[in-house]
Order: sequence, then structure tokens, then C-alpha cells
Amino acid sequence: MPDSLDEELDDASVCPTVPHTDATVQPHGCLLAFDNDWQSVCLASSNLSRFFGLSPAEALGRPPEQVLGADTVTALARALARGAPGITISSGNGTLQPLYLSLHATGRHVILEVEPQEEETGHDLPGLGYTWGTRIARASSTSELYAQLLQALHVLTGFASCTLLGQDHDGHDLRLEQKGIPIESVPCTVDRSARVPLMLVDGQAKPAELFGSPGPLPDLSGCPLCLPPPKLRNWLSGRQARAALILDLHEATPGRSLVVCRDRQPRHLSPPLRHLLLQLTQVATLRRALLHEKQQTQDRYRLLHERNTRLQRLAYTDPLTQVANRHRIEQVLETELAAACRNGSPLAVLLFDIDRFKAINDSHGHEVGDQVLHQVAQEAQSHLRNSDHLGRWGGEEFIAVVPGCDLTQAQELAWRVCHALAQSPIAPVGQVTASFGVAACQPGDSSRRLVQRADQAMYQAKRAGRACVRTQEAC
Ligand code: GH3
Ligand code: MG
Ligand code: MG
Repeated sequence: MPDSLDEELDDASVCPTVPHTDATVQPHGCLLAFDNDWQSVCLASSNLSRFFGLSPAEALGRPPEQVLGADTVTALARALARGAPGITISSGNGTLQPLYLSLHATGRHVILEVEPQEEETGHDLPGLGYTWGTRIARASSTSELYAQLLQALHVLTGFASCTLLGQDHDGHDLRLEQKGIPIESVPCTVDRSARVPLMLVDGQAKPAELFGSPGPLPDLSGCPLCLPPPKLRNWLSGRQARAALILDLHEATPGRSLVVCRDRQPRHLSPPLRHLLLQLTQVATLRRALLHEKQQTQDRYRLLHERNTRLQRLAYTDPLTQVANRHRIEQVLETELAAACRNGSPLAVLLFDIDRFKAINDSHGHEVGDQVLHQVAQEAQSHLRNSDHLGRWGGEEFIAVVPGCDLTQAQELAWRVCHALAQSPIAPVGQVTASFGVAACQPGDSSRRLVQRADQAMYQAKRAGRACVRTQEAC
């Protein structure tokens, strides 16, 4: 608004007898309050005459038609009935500029705020609202969401700085801004129930005083024309901000944040534009809550998945040797056998039993025996491929299921493991050997028959003097 507003005639001088309420409003617009039945004016700002050609003294006690004109009152009554936030009229009696009239009922009074209609209202507001609202509603992360919101506010307000301050859902500080102005926390508590954003059009403009009929002062909280609290005004002027718009990102959770748009020049945003900005902020708030919920659900799902994997590992693993337990290796063998039959591919099993293990236990104790079991399993595992499976069949007996191996290849593998074990002494026992039985899958085989053949071969190895490999008898 032009600075000339500051020099405007203060109508208080022409109505000195009217009781003074001590309240003020921003002077770019004027405020009128009516009684609840909308019968007469009970409060008016000192600059009323600039808009409607009447001083507060002349307006107080009069019916609205005599101040605003009958057509305007009819249009306002219709807007109020529809729940519309306000109406535009081509001009008041005292001005040729279009005016925007916002009306709201407090329960005891009806409050009318009148602001000049700026050119920017000629923008395609519904179109802009759709474009920016869609971008905000589609943001896939909170950082993208904030960036879109700040960009929207920056573009639509034209203010030099749009900053997001406060805390996220998780209590993390938010320090984002559209332009490089340092951020501090704002010393104000914006009324959460406020139906409008906090607005300062010109921090240096002289406020317009309010004059009223005797009686209780209407509740003016949430009126955009009211000045922001003094602490906030000081904070803004300390940052050379003459104009500001402050929007609250309401939260269901404790986290709370504000968007502060500031400019060093006086700036007025018309009520329809402010309304749109408020709606965009609300879309952002809803989207943020949704993203937060989504994140929480994903976190919960990941945790559940991790726990399930851990549980499954426990259920499938032999705790002493860390290879598959009997239950698991039987499952794996069934699966591999079915796949081998289906694909016609080879499959073999190596069954091996530690030689004279009882003697190890007897001479070194059970604990050392346990360590030997673990070491033998690890050594055997290190000779297998990723696609092979090693399991503890029972006691000091192990089984390796090796898909893709025929009898000869499996035999070679068994000898490799057999030699490796014999050549890797285990302290404090020394050399530990095992006897191996190898069997390969035959047409129509069952897992039981396959293992049975490997078992028979393993006993042949025992009989042959241990620390050696024997293969299945054809059966
Ligand atoms: P062979 O060469 O004929 O296989 O002789 P062996 O002594 O290894 O066989 P035997 O069946 O006589 O003894 C197996 C021993 O393995 C007896 C049992 O106490 C021991 N054993 C079985 N499971 C465990 C275990 O989990 N830990 C320990 N330390 N010993 C075990
Ligand atoms: Mg044994
Ligand atoms: Mg045994």
C-alpha cells in the first residue's frame, strides 16, 4: 500500500465524543462490527470515510444499509448464508477502487472487514490453486513437499523471503527457506484456531483506531486487519521486514511449524489470494501427515521383516555349528530333488561322519568336542558353492546337498573336503578326519532312498579304514 496512507486524515478528530475502545487495525482496510442481528453498526475504524464516505460517528448506531448500501447488504447476506468467505464489490461510496468484503459472525457480533481489491486477484486463482495444490499433494518426500510449498508461496506472494521454521513430526528442526535470509525462531504463537493467516501489510503505517458504541468490545481475534502481536512486530522490524504473512502448518502430532513470508516493502495480498495460500498450506499439512504415516508404516514393516528373517534364521539354523539343522536340510533336499527331477539335472548328496569322535569327547571333554563339530562344519562349508547346502544330519554327522553335480563330480568334491579336513589339524585335538558316503540322484528317487544309499556308502568308508570316500552301490 502507498505510504500516503500514513498521512490519511484521522477521523477521530471529527468524532471526539465517540467512546474509544483502545483497539486499532491496519489502515489499508477498514473494519465495521454490527450487532448479532445485523441491525446497527457498533464498531467502526477511523478510516471508514475513505471507503464509505461516513465517519465512525456518523455510522455508529445506523443500520448496515445506510452505511454500505442496500445492494451490498443483500449480497453480503447471501454470501453469509452460503458460507462464502466474502464478496467483491465494484466500489464503496467513498472510493472508486473495487473492494473485498469479508464477513464473519462471532456469535455476539457480525464483523465486516473491508480491503481494497488488488490487481493480483485478476490472476487465475482457481487455476493457480489447482497447479500448486497438485504439486504439493503429489510430493513424495517431506523435503520435496516443503520445497514445493515455499516455491508456491514465493511465486504467489512475490515476497522476497519465504521461510519454514519449526519442528518436524520427529522433533527435527526445520530450517528451509526460499531465499538466503538467516533464520531464527519466531517469537509468536499463532492462534491455532485462527481461520486466517497472520498478516502485516506495512509495519510502518499508522494504525487506524476503532470507535464503538458503549457495550462489550467484539471479539476481533482472527481478524486479518488486526495487527500482529507487538513482539512479533518487533521481531519483524528487527529483520527489516515491513510486510509479512505467517501461516501455521497445523499438526495432529506435537511437531509444529510456521511459514514466514517477509518483504522489506509494504505489500498487501488480497483476501482471495490469502485464502488460496491458506488452502495450499492446509494441503501441505495433510500431505505431510500422510507422508509421516506412510514412513511409519514402512518402518514398522521393515522392522517386522527383519524380525521375521531373524526368527526364520534361528528356526533353520543348528546353534552349535551354524549350518542348517536337520529340519531345514530335509526341506532343502526335498526342494532340490523336485527341481532336479523336473529339470532332468543332476543332484548328489555327501553324507559324512567324524571318525572316532567319541574318543575326542572322552579325551578332551564335551566342550572341545563341540568346538571340533563347529570347525569341521566351517571347513566343509568353505569347499562348497553358494548353491550347495550343508546341514547337520545328527550328532557328528553332516550332509551336503549339491545340485548340478553328478556322482563323479560329487565324489571329487568329497575327496577334496576329506583331504582338507585331514590336513587341517584342530587344536588341541590335532588331526580330525571324517568318512564320506556319496550318492547321486537316480530316476524316480525319493530323498529317503538317496540318503539311504549315501549312508550305506559312508559305512563302507568306515569299514574301509575311515578318512576316505565311498560312493553308492547301484540299487
Ligand atoms: P566312528 O568313527 O565309528 O563314527 O566313531 P565315533 O566315536 O565317532 O562314533 P560314535 O557313534 O561311537 O560316537 C559319537 C559320539 O558323538 C557320541 C556322542 O556323545 C558324540 N556327540 C553327539 N553329538 C554331540 C554334540 O553335540 N557334542 C559333542 N561334544 N558330542 C556329541
Ligand atoms: Mg563318528
Ligand atoms: Mg555317527
